[in-house]
Amino acid sequence: MNHECMPICFWCTKETGKPVMLPEVNGKTPPKKAILNYEPCDECKAMFSQGIHIIGVVDKPLVETMPPIVKDEGVELYPTGSFFVASEPWTEEMLKKNDKADMLEDVLKRKVLMMPEEIVSKIIEEAKDVPAVEMPVMEGDNNECDNH
Ligand SMILES: [Zn+2]
Repeated sequence: MNHECMPICFWCTKETGKPVMLPEVNGKTPPKKAILNYEPCDECKAMFSQGIHIIGVVDKPLVETMPPIVKDEGVELYPTGSFFVASEPWTEEMLKKNDKADMLEDVLKRKVLMMPEEIVSKIIEEAKDVPAVEMPVMEGDNNECDNH
């Protein structure tokens, strides 16, 4: 028997508003709400499309059951929930500064750039210096120390 499940967007943790039907697994009813994949909701998709989606990743899952966002030649990367949307010129400059200019073409084409979490969280902390597109810098769950 299938049950209705409301997917939650990994990036903004809001319900996507588009329920899906999921089967029972080993006799267990699927949760009513769940993060099913890393597919952004419509709102996030619109935000990401305004620039380069910079994603903080680590090489070990934060939660055991978490699937990797990238699985490539033995490398598995897991998103931490830290992310922001950067302008193309900012991304270009940042890649050049880090000797990664050869990645630029691919990044601009795919509009996604995954970077080690420690770098992304540092940039988010120093967000005032990021001339990002006219969007607030957003991060996932880990902003509890910043309630003001
Ligand atoms: Zn979203």
